[in-house]
Amino acid sequence: MPWHPTEAASITDQHHQAAATIPQQLTLLHPTSYRWRELTRRFQAYTEDPKAPSRQRTGTCRTCFYLDARLAGQAFTDYRCEACGRQASWHTTAIPRLCSACARYHVVCQHCGGSMD
Ligand SMILES: [Zn+2]
Ligand SMILES: [Zn+2]
Repeated sequence: MPWHPTEAASITDQHHQAAATIPQQLTLLHPTSYRWRELTRRFQAYTEDPKAPSRQRTGTCRTCFYLDARLAGQAFTDYRCEACGRQASWHTTAIPRLCSACARYHVVCQHCGGSMD
């Protein structure tokens, strides 16, 4: 389904629900494992938002900025903005849902279309 401005709040709600399960996920992991350390580090950054200015400058919500673990390839990838339908290109294979102009205009995260929480 293409992104629509009315979706932003519910995308963010889903993000918050997913993030709220992280402490529970951590209890199931071994505290010396790489996964535990990585998830702990990401969750702490997500909670404290230490890079808020650069995060907001790049039009990215807290979930996509701190928690997104998708392994991004380094190849430029073409995609179509779901809001305006224009073709754009992205510097990794983890393509965003919106172009930067639409994300700025709607004040939403370029990657997921959720609110800039
Ligand atoms: Zn657009
Ligand atoms: Zn996002």
